[in-house]
Amino acid sequence: MMTARTPEHSQKNRRENISMSPDVAVVGGSAAGFFTAFLLAREGMPVRVFEQSETLDPEARTLIVTSRMKDLLQDAGSASIVNEIRKFELFTDGRAATISLDRPDLIIERAKLIRSLAERAQESGAKIDFARKFRSLAPDANGITLEMQRPGKETAETLSTRVVVGGDGAASRVAQSAGWPKLETVPLVQAIVPLPKDMTPDTVRVWFVPDDTPYFYWLIPESADRGALGLIGEAGSEARKHLEAFLLKRKLEAISFQGARIPVYRSWVPVRKKLGGGSIFLVGDAAAQVKVSTVGGIVTGLRGAAGVAEAILRGGSSAELRQLRRELDLHLLVRRAMHRFTQDDYSRLVDSLNAPAKRSLSRYSRDEALKVLWRVCVSQPRLILMGLRGLLTGGRFSSRADS
Ligand SMILES: Cc1cc2nc3c(=O)[nH]c(=O)nc-3n(C[C@H](O)[C@H](O)[C@H](O)COP(=O)(O)OP(=O)(O)OC[C@H]3O[C@@H](n4cnc5c(N)ncnc54)[C@H](O)[C@@H]3O)c2cc1C
Repeated sequence: MMTARTPEHSQKNRRENISMSPDVAVVGGSAAGFFTAFLLAREGMPVRVFEQSETLDPEARTLIVTSRMKDLLQDAGSASIVNEIRKFELFTDGRAATISLDRPDLIIERAKLIRSLAERAQESGAKIDFARKFRSLAPDANGITLEMQRPGKETAETLSTRVVVGGDGAASRVAQSAGWPKLETVPLVQAIVPLPKDMTPDTVRVWFVPDDTPYFYWLIPESADRGALGLIGEAGSEARKHLEAFLLKRKLEAISFQGARIPVYRSWVPVRKKLGGGSIFLVGDAAAQVKVSTVGGIVTGLRGAAGVAEAILRGGSSAELRQLRRELDLHLLVRRAMHRFTQDDYSRLVDSLNAPAKRSLSRYSRDEALKVLWRVCVSQPRLILMGLRGLLTGGRFSSRADS
């Protein structure tokens, strides 16, 4: 995705594009916002990022992503990688299955990723304004006027631009101001814990406990002696209670907790709206660009950013956005199929993972949903029947519940 450019090359592009390109205001200085800013600024567009925090001090979070992040960011993501994962162990009611990964998953530290993307954006010419909280937007003669609030200042600042990119997270104020419907969210909580003695740092553990969560628990090693144990819940206080009980059961003591609400992908969120003579785009969590099967939003948010940058640069169309939509829809299908799985269903699932099915799971990552689904189902047709049954009884995720 990131191609090396000589200084002459980027200067030439900058000069050529500035006269034709609209100014871009990105709201939200985090992974998706900074990556969009970088991709546009390196093509010579004048870009400003407005972030509400007073300094670049993002909350630390231990995250797991597929190696697709490397393809998207190349060396810009390297500084954030703290560990590599070569195996997954799946547990359900006394049964277990191990999946090896051909290309290791990456454990990354979110704050480092955001800092390094901010640096890349700045090096490419984007300007970052901290302590600017976006309040509202309205059409004006040239495009769109944004209103920002600075801490301690009574009067709001205004700015006119032709393109606004909302990268301001799950509760996006940009989306709300522009009339997008509010996103449904779920709580994600995790505890940093000492790594249990029987675990190796290259292996992630996943437990399916449907009485506690329709998703799963995970323990992700971030180093040889620490890991992040967490779950996705449906209600905030319940999720925290379940996590604490699970920690107690495993005799693990939390060193610290991390958590926030994550948007639930229910259907594709159109990423562009026109307002007056300008356009508003959404990227990352603001557009629910999250795989709802596992609730991972980093890779898909970066892909959303790449797609929106492509759409802005090409004046509307983006192959990346079309592919991302297909990917997110497939994850929704998987979530629908599994959302009301019982403990017996998970046991049958783990028992069904024959050697060819495991091979496909080793070979393709969860950022290649079509390949995984196709190969796994061909290897083990019983899974199609389980999936179909799940689709008919998928509770709030079933097609019937949506209508
Ligand atoms: C505990 C936890 C663990 C997770 N684990 C994983 C994982 O393992 N793998 C994975 O892929 N994903 C994971 N996720 C999800 C992932 O972190 C998010 O999908 C991703 O970080 C979203 O990035 P973003 O840039 O879209 O939004 P955010 O990171 O939410 O950034 C939004 C930015 O906008 C700013 N902002 C908000 N409002 C305004 C405003 N009005 N004006 C100006 N600025 C504003 C905020 O300050 C922030 O900087 C996890 C999430 C949590 C909470």
